This record gives sequence, structure tokens and C-alpha cells, in this order.
Amino acid sequence: MSRVFHRSLRQSYPTAVAGEGPYIIDSDGRRYLDACGGAAVSCLGHSATEVIEAVQQQVQQLAYAHSSFFTTEPMEQLAEFLIDRAPEGLESVYFVSGGSEAVEAALKLARQYFTEIGQPQRRHLIARRQSYHGNTLGALATGGNLWRRAQFEPLLTGVSHVSPCYAYRERLTGESDDDFSTRLAKELEDEILRLGADEVMAFVAEPVVGATLGAVPPVAGYFRKVREVCDRYGVLLILDEVMCGMGRTGTLFAVEQEGISPDITTIAKGLGAGYQPIGATLVSGKIYRAIEEGSGFFQHGHTYIGHATACAAALAVQRTIEEKQLLARVRELGAGLEARLRERFGAHPHIGDIRGRGLFLGLELVRDRDTRVAFDPALKLHAVIKKAAMANGLMCYPMGGTIDGQRGDHILLAPPFILEEFHLDEVVDKLDTAIGSALKTVCG
Ligand code: PLP
Repeated sequence: MSRVFHRSLRQSYPTAVAGEGPYIIDSDGRRYLDACGGAAVSCLGHSATEVIEAVQQQVQQLAYAHSSFFTTEPMEQLAEFLIDRAPEGLESVYFVSGGSEAVEAALKLARQYFTEIGQPQRRHLIARRQSYHGNTLGALATGGNLWRRAQFEPLLTGVSHVSPCYAYRERLTGESDDDFSTRLAKELEDEILRLGADEVMAFVAEPVVGATLGAVPPVAGYFRKVREVCDRYGVLLILDEVMCGMGRTGTLFAVEQEGISPDITTIAKGLGAGYQPIGATLVSGKIYRAIEEGSGFFQHGHTYIGHATACAAALAVQRTIEEKQLLARVRELGAGLEARLRERFGAHPHIGDIRGRGLFLGLELVRDRDTRVAFDPALKLHAVIKKAAMANGLMCYPMGGTIDGQRGDHILLAPPFILEEFHLDEVVDKLDTAIGSALKTVCG
């Protein structure tokens, strides 16, 4: 029996002992190319000197000061940095320790906002099917991923789910981007009206869907239409950028590519790039002022809000990205990786779709390319691929298909922004070997 309560109780894990650029090295000296940043976290790889020095310096100066007594320079500076670059209208930042906490804070901020402005009946949340917004109970209830929810039902009530903007499986034959996005916006509007427009608090979505669908970007115009629907009924728009944010898609915030602003945005993962655990909830001036002029107190909090060392790490990460112009590099490397994936797997009999933005790319595996029928989830193809990739020195992030066949197994790639061109070839070669060996194991 392991003394560490690992997530999987039946698996044994190699012991990671060192990091070197985009590689993790285990206690047997084996090197793993990190092509998924763990879970889209390690955007600067595993040995970024600038960040390591910033952490060391902050720990020496002041590791932590509880936020009910003090603010700190790293926290103030990081907030300033983020707001200076955030989508229009987002004016303040609430710091937490990770993605689920950021989503919980977003939900409670939305609730408190409506209480402060005298609309406490607005409690209902609409999210999308097959979404993931975190594992704490509120965030889990928000997500529409049945596999993650199954063992914990009944979850918190007051959440309904509409269709995701998942063109590969949800778009009808012959439907244009415009028709598809109009239909989805109409579905959202119908759901708001069904619930009663003044009962609905917020619509929650990821701009580019990460873990549950494998780097699925929206079709052009989708978020503009969603924004219009939300505005028509006074519903807040919460965008979860925990995975797709902080430069991963080639812009600091993924929503920048949609031409709209949300009311609340959550970020985490790439914010601290794994050097420290940190997340944040960015809030519009409208919400901030309602709370400021109302009770003046956000009824929420965690011990590690605005942890000084975590903020110092995140500030160093974000400054490094900016100083080294890594967002341009993400776009360039992303285009290179996508081109290589298309060249290698574009005609693969079991890869139905290749998609994504920047260094956030996904491949969907199917039993049959023409019918798009997924593999039987009981085969656990994704897990076999992960094992084969690790055996071959590659970290990638595969995820299982759904029982109803509405999504196939997929592989998510989210490598560090500091790769060199030759790493792209290494990713594709190793992935090819892993997929080939996994398919042989699963299909014979
Ligand atoms: N939201 C999204 C979109 C995520 O992808 C995740 C994690 O994968 C979370 C929230 C939860 O973040 P954390 O695991 O840091 O709690």
C-alpha cells in the first residue's frame, strides 16, 4: 500500500527527480519530453532560471503574509500586470491557488453580485455538455462531463447544460460557421427563456475547450453571439481560461481572438507555469463596484489568497513570456506542430480530427474515419496510448471517449513555449510510435 494517496490506486509512477528545459528526468535517468506541460501547466519548461531566482528571492524576503492582514508587492504588481493586458472591462483580480478555486470564486462572485444589486433570485447557471471546470463540488456541478460527475451525484442543483461548440461532432451536415453558431446561440437563449430570464445568473464556457474535448476552438462568431444573448437577458458571461489562457493559444487570453470581453475570467495553470500553485479570477469593474458600494466585503476566502511567493513566481513567468516574446513563438511553433501533425496523421485511418490553436492542439481517435464512430471506451485506448508514450519518453495528455460515442478518445498536446524546432519532430515521431503500438495492443 502506498503512503501517498495517488489518484490512481492501482498504478505505479516513475519518480520525477529533475527538470531540464522541456524534459522531466526520473530516478532511473529516463528522460520524458513534456509535450503536454503536465496538464497545460509548464509553459516555460522545467528549469526557467528567471522564475527559480524570483522564487528564491521572494522566499528569502517574505514567503507568505496572510491576506487579511497585509497586501504584498508581488500580489499588487501581478494584479497590475494582468489587468493592464486583460480584455476590456476586467478591472480587478482575486488570487487563489488553482483552477478549481478560481472557478469557485467566480461562481460566488456572480452570486454575491446579484445579491448586492437586489436580484438574489438569479442563481441558475448554464454551462455546456462535456465541459470541465474543476473538481471541487461547485466547479464539478458546473461541468457537464458525465464521467467526472457520475460517482458524486446528486451534485449541487441549479445548473443546466447546452451543446458545446464542437464542430467535429455537433455541426450538422452542410451547416456553415454562421448557421452553426446561430443555432447554438439560439439553444442558449431558449434555455435562458425556459428557466426564466430573471432566474439565470451566468453562462460558463471555456473559449478553447481543453481537457474534456481536446483543444476544440469555437467557430468564428460563436462567442460574439453568446455575448449578445447574455447581454439581452442580463446574464453574466464567465469564461474559464484555466487551461487555454496565459498565452497557450498564441494570445495572452484566448478570448482576445473572439472580439468580446467576459464579465469574469478564471486563469491558473500557465499563470505560475508550475513553479508555484496559483490561480486567479478577473472581475469586471461593474461587479467590483457593486460589491464595493454594497456590503464592501467579498464573502469568500482561502488561507493562501495572493500567496507572496506564488505571485512572485507568476510575475516572473509572465514577464519572461513577454520579454522573450514567447507569444509570437507560440504562434510560430504551434503552426509548425500543427503542420507536422497534419502531414503525419492527416490520412491516418484512426485519426478523425486534428484541431486547436497555438500550442494547444488535439487529435481525436476514431474506429472509423468516415462514420466518425469512436472506439469502445471500455478498451481505454487513451490510457494505452499514455502508457506507450511514457515508455517511449513522451508525456502527452490523452482522454477517454464517452459511452454514448459523442466523443472519441483524444490526445491533447500543450508543450512548453520554449521548444526548439527539433523538439516538434521528436513529439510527432514519439507520438506516432505510441499511437501505433497502442492501436496494435487494442485492435490486434
Ligand atoms: N477549469 C478548466 C478549464 C480546467 O481545465 C481545469 C483543470 O484541468 C480546472 C478548471 C481546474 O483546475 P485545477 O485542477 O487547478 O483545480
